[in-house]
Amino acid sequence: IEYSNHYIPLTRDALIERLQNSLRPKRFHHVLRVEQTAIKLAKRYHVDLEKASIAGLCHDYAKQRPDDVFIAEIKKKHLDPDLLNWGNAIWHGVVGAELLKDECGIWDEDILNAVRHHTTGAVVMSPLEQIVYMADYIEPARDFPGVDRARQITDEDLGAGVAYQTKHTLAYLIKNNKPVYPKTIETYNAWVAKYE
Ligand code: GDP
Ligand code: FE
Ligand code: FE
Ligand code: FE
Repeated sequence: IEYSNHYIPLTRDALIERLQNSLRPKRFHHVLRVEQTAIKLAKRYHVDLEKASIAGLCHDYAKQRPDDVFIAEIKKKHLDPDLLNWGNAIWHGVVGAELLKDECGIWDEDILNAVRHHTTGAVVMSPLEQIVYMADYIEPARDFPGVDRARQITDEDLGAGVAYQTKHTLAYLIKNNKPVYPKTIETYNAWVAKYE
């Protein structure tokens, strides 16, 4: 897939090189698989393949930054101060999108929202956002009970896939006594009742 320059002022090769330099090999290979999965879903659901490639590659761009980078960015961009009560799991998407603007020249709000919402989902998600949320969950190396069901549902109905992931992630968080980010609950209320 060749980039048009409409969404990022880099070639795919140059973007790949940046990712290789900022991510450990395991994480780098994960983003390549998420890209391929996102492209497949984009073909299936008639979404722009270039945007799917960029968003898939960039979704974990900031995953390996130290906490102080996120904290400085939250303050600099005047993001929701409640973010300071959370950690890398929540920051790398929402705050990572800001770093993509600063460092990679991505300004397309659909791509940025796909990165912002890839961990928690959101009440309203575009087809691209749903694709990246699902691609991260079902990429070929993911292996957990229910992943094949998630792949099957996502191929049948993208929104039903979003509902499935949201329900199972919330159940996992609760079972393990993890704090639930408010947006995760909002996503659950918006997507799960609707499809069950
Ligand atoms: P990854 O970056 O490819 O590993 O995947 P994600 O960005 O989707 O998820 C990162 C981590 O955040 C996972 O361990 C999730 O279980 C976790 N996570 C997702 N939602 C929440 C939440 O509401 N609260 C907390 N504490 N963790 C969450
Ligand atoms: Fe992530
Ligand atoms: Fe995810
Ligand atoms: Fe990921």
